[in-house]
Amino acid sequence: MRLDIQLFGALPARRISKTRKRLRRTHLKKEAPTITTCPNCNSPIAPHRACTNCGYYKGKDVLGKEEKSEEKKENK
Ligand SMILES: [Zn+2]
Repeated sequence: MRLDIQLFGALPARRISKTRKRLRRTHLKKEAPTITTCPNCNSPIAPHRACTNCGYYKGKDVLGKEEKSEEKKENK
């Protein structure tokens, strides 16, 4: 029924009725990002990413953040 939208592509704004425009935009919406918690330090993190707070991913310190913090303590 609404195949004509894809057949003609860009048209002057007045050629697309308010209803047709709004029906098309019913599928457009912002979605909140998925957030999980780090199993090591419980801070909120993006899924499938290393933790920005402690540098852990899958139980390993992949960013070496803990080693650096220990070095700083030794220097003081
Ligand atoms: Zn963490």
